[in-house]
Amino acid sequence: MSVLVVRGLSKSFGGVRAVDDVSFAVAPGEMLALIGPNGAGKSTCFNMVGGQLPPDAGSVLLDGGPITGLGPRAIALRGVGRTFQITATFGSMTVRENVQMAILSHRGQVWQFWRPVAGRFATEADALLDQVGLLAQADRATGVLAYGDLKRLELAIALGNAPRLLLMDEPTAGMAPAERVGLMHLTRRLATGRGIAVLFTEHDMDVVFDVSDRILVLNRGALIAEGDGPAIRANPAVREIYLGT
Ligand code: ADP
Ligand code: MG
Repeated sequence: MSVLVVRGLSKSFGGVRAVDDVSFAVAPGEMLALIGPNGAGKSTCFNMVGGQLPPDAGSVLLDGGPITGLGPRAIALRGVGRTFQITATFGSMTVRENVQMAILSHRGQVWQFWRPVAGRFATEADALLDQVGLLAQADRATGVLAYGDLKRLELAIALGNAPRLLLMDEPTAGMAPAERVGLMHLTRRLATGRGIAVLFTEHDMDVVFDVSDRILVLNRGALIAEGDGPAIRANPAVREIYLGT
């Protein structure tokens, strides 16, 4: 069964149809790329799946159950994780504490910011930090990490929440090209190895073709192509948008 099913999703802003009757599904453990030019509607799709924006029409099913129109918190609790920009981490806390917090909140233990996370789930947090290559920095304050390390911490935090589906809107923005492939390969290894479905956007087509199981192409709000790397590369409509040929 699909982890995520999206049917007929639509959203307009004023006169602009930002997302127009979009339908797709994501399987457990699948790396699915959503690509398209700037303004194609990718972030709007993410925001409707994650609950940041209510759709005008259409439905969103998670593990077969409707989540359409629920808020971000309710959707997160049902197992949809999102990576955000760096500001989502707590800069004065240590790297380990940030991951412990994610695990605590997933286990339903409400984290209280006036109470130190102390040793709770420290072993689990360290296992995740080891997997993303940050164990040596576990005791450092998050605020002093290099950008690429923060991106890997963000991944560890997302995994600490043990989601069914991980939404990543331009996770490699601001990273050097060589680092981008590394982060997405790491994501693929850790997320899909746990059966987590990943829906992501990425501008670098080399990275997209390298790490995706399947690719969806949005243009002006509508899905115009779907397939594996070779099929998308050969698709005339996609070539026209990306290469003008
Ligand atoms: P992408 O992420 O693919 O670059 P977006 O989903 O951000 O595209 O935007 C799709 C279209 O919707 C664009 O025309 C954009 O200007 C418009 N749009 C997105 N968010 C808003 C908003 N909050 N208010 C008005 N227009 C918006
Ligand atoms: Mg966007």
